[in-house]
Amino acid sequence: MKPESLTILGAGIIGLSLAREARLRGLRVKVYDSRPNGSSCTHSATGVLKAPEHRRSPYLDLRHRSWEEWPDFAESLKQESGGLDVGFRICGGLDLRDRTARDPQRAVEKLYGSGGAVRILEAEELATLLPAMKRVPQSAVFIEHQAVVDPSSLMSALEKSCTSLGVEIHYDQGEIQLQSTTDGLRLQTEAGDTIAQPSEMEPVVLSAGWETSALADHLRAEPLPLEPVRGEAISLDIPAPPHIVTFDARLKDVPDPAGNRSRFSWIPGPGGISWFGNSVGDTGSGKERSPQPTTTGRSRLLEAAESFFGAGISDRVIDHWAGLRPKSLRHGGPLLGSLDGDRRVWIATGHYRTGLLIGPLTARWVIADILGEGEIPEVFSVPQAGAD
Ligand SMILES: Cc1cc2nc3c(=O)[nH]c(=O)nc-3n(C[C@H](O)[C@H](O)[C@H](O)COP(=O)(O)OP(=O)(O)OC[C@H]3O[C@@H](n4cnc5c(N)ncnc54)[C@H](O)[C@@H]3O)c2cc1C
Repeated sequence: MKPESLTILGAGIIGLSLAREARLRGLRVKVYDSRPNGSSCTHSATGVLKAPEHRRSPYLDLRHRSWEEWPDFAESLKQESGGLDVGFRICGGLDLRDRTARDPQRAVEKLYGSGGAVRILEAEELATLLPAMKRVPQSAVFIEHQAVVDPSSLMSALEKSCTSLGVEIHYDQGEIQLQSTTDGLRLQTEAGDTIAQPSEMEPVVLSAGWETSALADHLRAEPLPLEPVRGEAISLDIPAPPHIVTFDARLKDVPDPAGNRSRFSWIPGPGGISWFGNSVGDTGSGKERSPQPTTTGRSRLLEAAESFFGAGISDRVIDHWAGLRPKSLRHGGPLLGSLDGDRRVWIATGHYRTGLLIGPLTARWVIADILGEGEIPEVFSVPQAGAD
């Protein structure tokens, strides 16, 4: 029998996309979040959506399909939310990474699968487009298929869409635990008070970002292959670039000048503001796992920004924030599917750096699978406890 109702834990982009999708398919939906509205990792994102270079793996294909669906998703949210604009705009991107500047022709050839126009820009055109840049790259590549969205507006529109469709959202519930008892599943507070007791026919989806592991811990012997990875960003008092700019910063303590930790983006944020960031930082353990911005993160961002704009950037910082991204430790994309074959408990997390891009489509997959109307590609399934 198909379930008629659903309980969702976590109200970030994944939880609310699941709720909206389930409600559109006629399920009754309740969402519970431990924290106040506005504190999810999704609210710290910098809103970049990119079509990948090609679709030669299931994860890249998922990103590609998500890219193709985003314009319709933004439009649907606008209608469902009574006109809220999520700030979706195909603004294009400038790839100024070192390897691109060295061999732009090769970069262009690799990008043919991205679906949009790509072309090489010479130093003169770049200097006109980016007057605030102090670097003088020989060349760069313009990539049409890159877009921005405003994460806060996105979350407001998604929440409004959910509530107008009839989803119940309960924020600020304190630490929620999920227990399996002889009477079925129970959501409870840390002190053991019952928050809700889903019926046997009511699946529960765990979409609590990196903290999904703590929820699943009570249900299985092994931790989920998931870890938090800190990301930090700043906004700058510098006019926003016309396109998303991606470059390799030269950082003193990072030996790999083309790796993840050296790659930074200068982003046209909402209202014409400059956002700068997406740094991949270190995340401590236990109580250090806090989404507060750090002094180390700030110095790293300033060093990267100064390698691009020149000295004196610290006086131009307007804001600084951080978030903990849910990274799946299993290679190849998010963790989606039922937990150890139990169709009462589902997992939807591990979206790492692409939650905004792929969240809506992965939500559709999970709901279709719960209803028995479609299957999530096997490659994204949650590794069974005890499997090698
Ligand atoms: C600086 C930065 C920049 C980023 N930029 C981009 C970008 O440009 N493009 C992109 O696609 N992605 C980006 N990301 C990644 C993106 O933000 C994440 O992939 C996405 O937000 C993950 O969403 P989520 O719903 O899984 O988790 P979250 O947004 O963290 O939501 C999880 C929710 O679960 C709640 N919760 C926790 N524990 C419990 C519990 N026990 N019970 C109930 N609820 C609980 C939390 O309070 C939270 O509200 C960025 C991330 C960062 C940090």
